[in-house]
Amino acid sequence: MMPVSKWLETKSITRQQRWHQLQHHQSIEVAVIGGGITGAAIFRELARYGVKVVLFEQGDFASGTSSRSSKLIHGGLRYLGKGQLSLAFQSIRARQWLKQQLPGLVEPLHFMIPHYQGNFPGQHSFGWLLKIYDSLAKESQAYSLSAHQVLTRQPLVNLQGLQGGSVFTDCISDDARLVMRLMTEGEADGGIALNYTKVTSIQQGRGGVTLEVQDAVSKQSTSLAVKAVANAVGAWVNGHDYQQPSLYRIRPLRGSHVLIPGWRLPVSGALSFFHPEDRRPIFIIPWQGATVIGTTDVDHTAPLTNDLAITSSEIDYLLSACNQLLPELQLTHYDIQASWSGVRPVLAGKDKDAPSALSREHVLWRRGAIVNVTGGKLTTFKSIAEQALALLRESVQLPVSPVNPHWFRQVTRQPLLPFTQLSFTTQQRLYGTYGTWLSLWPLQNKRSLQQFAPAPTLYAELEWILQQEQVVHLDDLLLRRTRIGLLCPLGGSHWLSELKPLCCQWLGWNEAKWQAEVDRYLTIWQQSYSHPELLAEVA
Ligand SMILES: Cc1cc2nc3c(=O)[nH]c(=O)nc-3n(C[C@H](O)[C@H](O)[C@H](O)COP(=O)(O)OP(=O)(O)OC[C@H]3O[C@@H](n4cnc5c(N)ncnc54)[C@H](O)[C@@H]3O)c2cc1C
Repeated sequence: MMPVSKWLETKSITRQQRWHQLQHHQSIEVAVIGGGITGAAIFRELARYGVKVVLFEQGDFASGTSSRSSKLIHGGLRYLGKGQLSLAFQSIRARQWLKQQLPGLVEPLHFMIPHYQGNFPGQHSFGWLLKIYDSLAKESQAYSLSAHQVLTRQPLVNLQGLQGGSVFTDCISDDARLVMRLMTEGEADGGIALNYTKVTSIQQGRGGVTLEVQDAVSKQSTSLAVKAVANAVGAWVNGHDYQQPSLYRIRPLRGSHVLIPGWRLPVSGALSFFHPEDRRPIFIIPWQGATVIGTTDVDHTAPLTNDLAITSSEIDYLLSACNQLLPELQLTHYDIQASWSGVRPVLAGKDKDAPSALSREHVLWRRGAIVNVTGGKLTTFKSIAEQALALLRESVQLPVSPVNPHWFRQVTRQPLLPFTQLSFTTQQRLYGTYGTWLSLWPLQNKRSLQQFAPAPTLYAELEWILQQEQVVHLDDLLLRRTRIGLLCPLGGSHWLSELKPLCCQWLGWNEAKWQAEVDRYLTIWQQSYSHPELLAEVA
């Protein structure tokens, strides 16, 4: 396995150099299409086996569904409740593995579910479900609470009919950072990952597959011959012709979240409950100092683009659930700091099926040297990638065992000296997010380890990201590499001037480019990460 210092010498290259490298690379074996969690995991797994692999993402990495999920790494209690044992078991195994592999990026999160008189599920039957959930994970985390204990934990919870509560544990992550961690590990093992490169056609011939690829940055196109392709375009699979109609149909279901400042919706752990209107599960989760309410589940009938936005009725739906559970808060649209919506790549069942009734399982199918994958979850990326590799073996010779035994390079237990001045939680977050690369951070000035704006991001983190993580646009930096655009009021617009010198220094932007990027970012933020009332207030 290549040491990280060596990696830096070879891989500390710009996006432009990566594109150039690709055009002159004669021996790429596999191309992965799609830079969400699924594509990133397949990319990482192929690189681990020593395969020469390239990944193309038409927008920014994780700009599809994989930065817009609920960020839960969960065992799928709901699947267990529906009797989908294999999906629940697979998810629980994945959760346990990730918790052990990436502490700091995948962290345990305790959920409390209050039980009310006459409502399903009752505390007793739910307790049994949790026992099975725990036993599948070979741990004992769940327990019951009396009504009094529920109130001690969450004093604002609706008292009327409250009978008690149950507590169980899942995990929370940052989906976009998880994608980046996989990309970085894959590149360190020899892969090339490129954002803003769209695959516009695929031709399958006797000797393999030829792809046409368009680079949105240089406006150049290139064609590339490979032995096999992994097509991991998530919900985009419906729109993908590639000369053959997709074998499976995706029913695009939009799920939206609202983010409320932590001081306005204070929760010490997550709350899970059922929406009074339709009995769908709703959660309220603490995330990076703020609180998130999610999620909706509605048919997304508009064309699939990245400018998805929450609707007023979705906001009403989420707030009414929250206000029913925590009536004293009486949250309104004006309490919302940010929002986001994503489209679930859910396999279509019958048209009359309710969205929540559809299966969340993934499917893989092979057509010659093209392996397609869609559906599934953030949590189960490892097993999806392993299954994709098994199908790719038909077209590419792979060694029996991986060249690199680890999915994630492990961090030494010894804390790095400069970071010991940070809180334990911040240190953990940095280790989980950047892994062993943390030792390469240039901590040049006094403010390197200071927080930028009211977000957890550090100045040193910004500099590392700008140098190493293919930031093409300001929105890449503010909405996915960091979450400044969600965690700071008004998309962090008050702090943009502080970012300007960093972007100009590391990305070579001039005044005109900076202004164009600010305009682009604010348009995207207003369209997809804000909400109508907030916009009216700003105007
Ligand atoms: C609201 C919501 C909440 C969710 N919550 C959870 C959760 O808490 N836990 C969990 O485990 N799962 C969750 N999920 C599911 C999970 O987020 C998705 O299953 C997962 O992100 C899908 O990843 P993907 O890589 O398949 O798709 P995507 O992330 O959408 O990636 C596909 C990528 O392909 C790219 N692409 C398309 N066409 C081309 C082309 N021609 N060339 C190059 N690139 C192309 C797209 O730009 C896109 O980025 C949630 C989903 C939603 C919508």
